[in-house]
Amino acid sequence: AKSAGKAAFLFYDSSMEETGLERLALENDLRKALENNELVLFYQPQVDTQAGKVVGAEALMRWRHPEQGLIPPFRFIPLAEEMGLIAAMGEWTIREACNQVKRFAAAGVVLPKVAVNVSALQFTPSFSRKVRAILEETGVDPGVLELELTEGVVMGDTSTSVQALGELRDLGVSLSIDDFGTGYSSLSYLSRFPLDELKIDRSFVVDAVESEEGASLVRAIVAMAQGLGLKLVAEGVETLEQYDFMTATGATVIQGYLFSPPVPADELAPLLSPWHFQEQI
Ligand code: C2E
Ligand code: CA
Ligand code: CA
Ligand code: CA
Repeated sequence: AKSAGKAAFLFYDSSMEETGLERLALENDLRKALENNELVLFYQPQVDTQAGKVVGAEALMRWRHPEQGLIPPFRFIPLAEEMGLIAAMGEWTIREACNQVKRFAAAGVVLPKVAVNVSALQFTPSFSRKVRAILEETGVDPGVLELELTEGVVMGDTSTSVQALGELRDLGVSLSIDDFGTGYSSLSYLSRFPLDELKIDRSFVVDAVESEEGASLVRAIVAMAQGLGLKLVAEGVETLEQYDFMTATGATVIQGYLFSPPVPADELAPLLSPWHFQEQI
């Protein structure tokens, strides 16, 4: 059951091109996915390897299609963005993640932080108002919610972004830059934006153990995050070699298949107990 999230993806071969008709059918179905309750969140733990505990989880959307089964985000998020559905779906994600934290709490399970992805198209001037409304409606401690934004999202218009990020920060939520290093960010924006965390993209983790240049890049990113007082999460850690390199370099919060793929909420709960992952490392 542990690898269920991963295994389900193996059925789809990304080299299979969708025909126009298939795509049209998928679009029609996607229009109804939200109201038909077909969207679900999987959760991937973020492990603080020094403290020996799960410090949070990233919520990742899947679509339980009535005929096609579990559909991964790369097949429907871009469609949802093109179709103008992503804002509603993204709001659902935030609400559902908050409600899941409450369901866990009611069952005596503490999830200290839940990170939610925010699409560039969701990041409008009214976004912070929507987030605030969801926090009020669910009554979840804002400190539990983390929003993951990509560099492109915040770099578009820097002065507007500084304001929008400030509004979100004022709500008490934390802000993370996703896929860090893959975008076109200037270093100066990092210090000007009210950020809490960087997530080093998986490609850097892969390169770090393959070349001295890759290793140097990761060392530089870690040093920069430390210098700016930002937390750091290493994404996509799959091997012990990658794990050893990242933790030795100071990137001690790890998210990746080495520990767990994204799993349904009921499978996340047992992973949250202290030192659950000790045997992996
Ligand atoms: P992301 O935000 O960069 O999420 C990390 C992706 O890396 C996830 O893919 C996760 O399953 C995968 N991953 C985690 N650990 C490993 C590893 O060790 N090795 C490898 N190869 N991959 C790993 P997933 O769940 O398919 O999501 C793909 C992308 O879809 C996400 O990338 C994010 O950009 C987008 N996405 C997912 N859920 C949402 C959502 O609710 N809203 C929005 N706007 N985008 C979402
Ligand atoms: Ca993410
Ligand atoms: Ca990422
Ligand atoms: Ca990514």
